Amino acid sequence: MRTQVAIIGAGPAGLLLGHLLHRAGIDNVIVERHDRRYAEERIRAGVLEQGTIDTLDEAGVGERMHREGLPHEGIELLFDRKRHRIDLTALSGGRAIVVYGQHEVVKDLIAARVETGRPLLFEASDVAVHDLDSDHPSVTCVHDGAAVKIECDYVAGCDGFHGICRPAMPAGALKVFDRIYPFAWLGILAEARPSSHELVYANHENGFALFSMRSEKITRLYLQCEPEEDINEWSDDRIWSELHTRLETDDGWKVNEGPIMQKGVTPMRSFVCEPMQYGRLFLAGDSAHIVPPTGAKGMNLAVADVRMLSKALIAHYASNDDTRLAAYSDTCLKRVWRAEHYSWWMTSMLHRFPESTPFMDRVQRSELAYVTSSEAGGRVVAENYVGLPFAD
Ligand SMILES: Cc1cc2nc3c(=O)[nH]c(=O)nc-3n(C[C@H](O)[C@H](O)[C@H](O)COP(=O)(O)OP(=O)(O)OC[C@H]3O[C@@H](n4cnc5c(N)ncnc54)[C@H](O)[C@@H]3O)c2cc1C
Repeated sequence: MRTQVAIIGAGPAGLLLGHLLHRAGIDNVIVERHDRRYAEERIRAGVLEQGTIDTLDEAGVGERMHREGLPHEGIELLFDRKRHRIDLTALSGGRAIVVYGQHEVVKDLIAARVETGRPLLFEASDVAVHDLDSDHPSVTCVHDGAAVKIECDYVAGCDGFHGICRPAMPAGALKVFDRIYPFAWLGILAEARPSSHELVYANHENGFALFSMRSEKITRLYLQCEPEEDINEWSDDRIWSELHTRLETDDGWKVNEGPIMQKGVTPMRSFVCEPMQYGRLFLAGDSAHIVPPTGAKGMNLAVADVRMLSKALIAHYASNDDTRLAAYSDTCLKRVWRAEHYSWWMTSMLHRFPESTPFMDRVQRSELAYVTSSEAGGRVVAENYVGLPFAD
């Protein structure tokens, strides 16, 4: 098989890149380890920044997002049993977010891909990349029981944190920056009508909690827990009881309960590899960087990367101009590090750390009081939460 760009991974990064390149007439093949159902049902991110919304619109895949997504103009920070609203739109010059599940974005992108007729190889095994430092790289895999070789001009490593692309770069070519947090998130998806229109981030003495939603009928809730937490020790009753404790307010607001459809534990990590390129291989999304989910940045960063990569590849094929390809890693990393700082900062402000002292608790409270009472403080939360404009 011969193509211009071989894309590894059919998450949001790989699928969107494939679609943006298709619209510019650039041939590409997507290779995915799992089946279609797995890709479409994996519950993960849910907050789309303005730049992500604009990019999906420009790619012609935003129609259902506008119909079914929930536009939000604020979030709430809860501490000392009170909710404090941050007006995202007023504090960010009119920008906003839309709550629309990552798996819904993936469904829309897969449907668009299937319509193009371009190859999307699900359930590919033994995926490997070759000759990345030459001008004729290739990808091999096994698909439908047959060995496949894809010769290409470029490889896009969109295969997430545990993929094979980043490890294929020689160790000496990479610098890794890593931080593992001493806690995780226990997340549930419940068939319960959201009891508030906006997301609520809570700092409680038992630990962080987050109230969010995926639709008018589905609530998504998280609790800070131990990194090695055994999910079997959390009965539904225990989960609801702890959620009520951490999210309780003096004004009587409560989360609505309902049947729990899914539960799981997500470890928390910050990670960046530099550069995001080696020879003809370009990394995008979680394959190059991870953020703790507190700032809702992971999928949005993946979209920002592939937007940049598609523009660079289009400039290469349309006018033989490689300036953007050469600048790809540096350009993306500026945004990545902004998001790394924001996600780390929000995580630090809202979670209980094992080494917390009464002094640190008071400092946290003071910071929360500042960002919810000062316009300058609120602007820092808002401007980063809705996402800084994409550096086109
Ligand atoms: C539980 C959870 C909650 C999250 N919540 C949020 C949130 O609220 N907001 C937010 O912005 N972000 C959140 N994130 C992060 C967000 O989901 C990711 O940043 C996003 O999925 C990145 O997209 P991606 O396409 O780069 O990688 P992925 O979505 O990981 O996609 C990579 C794809 O590559 C495939 N793949 C892997 N290895 C191979 C291989 N060898 N060969 C072929 N294919 C391969 C995988 O199967 C996968 O389909 C969350 C993550 C988790 C785990």
